[in-house]
Amino acid sequence: MPDKRANGGQVLVLNCGSSSLKFALIDPRNGNASLSGLGDSLGHSAPSVSWKIDGEKHSAALPEGAKHTEVIEFVVTNILSGGGILRADIAAIGHRVVHGGEKFSHSVLINEQVISAIQDCVALAPLHNPAHLQGIEAATKAFPGLPQVAVFDTAFHQTMPRQAYIYALPYELYEEHGIRRYGMHGTSHRFVSERAADLLGKAKADVNIISAHLGNGASIAAIQAGKSVDTSMGLTPLEGLVMGTRCGDVDPGLLLHLGVRLDYCMKEINDLLNKKSGLLGISQLSNDCRALEQAAAEGHQGAQLALEIFCYRLAKYIASYHGVLSHVDALVFTGGIGENSAYIRENVLNRLIGLGYRVDETRNLEMRFGAEGAIEPPSGTTSTPKVLVIPTNEEWVIARDAAQIIASGNSAASGQPAGGS
Ligand code: ADP
Repeated sequence: MPDKRANGGQVLVLNCGSSSLKFALIDPRNGNASLSGLGDSLGHSAPSVSWKIDGEKHSAALPEGAKHTEVIEFVVTNILSGGGILRADIAAIGHRVVHGGEKFSHSVLINEQVISAIQDCVALAPLHNPAHLQGIEAATKAFPGLPQVAVFDTAFHQTMPRQAYIYALPYELYEEHGIRRYGMHGTSHRFVSERAADLLGKAKADVNIISAHLGNGASIAAIQAGKSVDTSMGLTPLEGLVMGTRCGDVDPGLLLHLGVRLDYCMKEINDLLNKKSGLLGISQLSNDCRALEQAAAEGHQGAQLALEIFCYRLAKYIASYHGVLSHVDALVFTGGIGENSAYIRENVLNRLIGLGYRVDETRNLEMRFGAEGAIEPPSGTTSTPKVLVIPTNEEWVIARDAAQIIASGNSAASGQPAGGS
């Protein structure tokens, strides 16, 4: 077994959901994970934890009613010590936090002020932020004195100009209730746009990128000189692209229609838009892109229609971001679908031939399953925009930000934005 002590300065990255907790021990220098795992079904029946350490998979049942605290205790007592990892090997804990509202444009060291600011944003992310707070509390108990850093999904999009984030609603809704567009997946968009600049051999301040993060949740961002200037998700992760089970953009009059004419209650509307729509709703078959591609190839009309709408709507967003950015250096595909589906990428790019996009079929098939690189034709002219496939790595960003903040000896007590970019 490799000596973990040689890997001092690692960051324990925690991503606490309402009933799950993903954890990983990451080396911030290279993004390598010596340990990764998932606590699942927390607060429900048969909670469990599964993990991979040194390439070996393990799993265990947790006591009934176990929540985030029990998972973290299990990680400390059973996994870390069992794997020969000392607490001294861990330099910091990095937490993914979904919503930082307008309070955080960067990652920050967690202190009382930051905790209360995350609490203030609960109304904007009622499922996620309370879980993050539970995770922070549990980690504080398990690792007393260890610095903890919060990395916000919304932070990267705080550079959006007002024209991109204000809804055409009465302005007091923004002023009094913070109702505006925030955007999500910021950590991923930031990672892949920085990586795209590296691949283009340029500084991030010198490139404009359109970044399409396509997973079960999906969003797209227009990034100008390294800064997000627009993105498709809004106040909540429901706006924008067609997703696995979320509808994305719809006529807001639909909500009135459902409520007033069809007698839906709020819970039914919420379930309909968030859980029963998107690829699943259209296809009446599955939210899973892989399954839909297979079914579409076998002639399933619902699957064919779902994929067609998914690609059409994505292509429309990409085209509109050409209008947002003065020029586009590269379009990046990432997320489970963006990284793996040659079918979706080709279908989308074929709809954008008018903008100069071209796809090389062989390269497109090669860039899957963790591969990184360009998929436009090698002999493309200067009018052929670069199209890059870049596997995202949000855990690495979280680990890097945490390490950077610790190294800079940032004034934690102030709770001011620090680190990140
Ligand atoms: P999440 O948003 O839950 O993190 P992921 O980024 O893991 O989601 O993406 C999940 C999506 O990626 C699913 O729709 C899945 O079908 C799709 N996907 C994964 N591998 C492939 C593949 N080889 N071809 C097509 N789609 C794929």
